[in-house]
Amino acid sequence: MHEFSIAQALCEIAIEEARRNGAVRVRSLTCRVGVVRQLVPELFQTAFELSAEDPLLAGTELIVEVEGIEVACQTCQKIETIHELPLACSHCGSVDIQCRGGDDISLMSMDIDKENGDGDPGSPASGGEEQGHRGSGSVRAG
Ligand SMILES: [Zn+2]
Repeated sequence: MHEFSIAQALCEIAIEEARRNGAVRVRSLTCRVGVVRQLVPELFQTAFELSAEDPLLAGTELIVEVEGIEVACQTCQKIETIHELPLACSHCGSVDIQCRGGDDISLMSMDIDKENGDGDPGSPASGGEEQGHRGSGSVRAG
């Protein structure tokens, strides 16, 4: 059940980022999790909801992107990015590969509500929320 430790780490980053940006609520949260983490999406969603004790994260929609892993085949020398396990060369089937990345957990963006937003929060063209904020947080859990 490593989903819980990842979810908890993600919650901590999200809360820190949200506070830094003056958020009163996080509407949705996009994170990227390396493919080698082998997250079960349903479990991760549940783990996130259980970990999100802070009111900032009440009802937050969780969006998970899978980060691919770059593999360099030692047999046929091909380099490719794999988004699904098992990790093997798709060209020659060799498992003699060198891997890079694919194990990160990163907060990509958050859609937040701000207390003192001066725009109309109902209008998609004005302020009141911040989209596409790129978090710098990256953790390694486990
Ligand atoms: Zn190969």
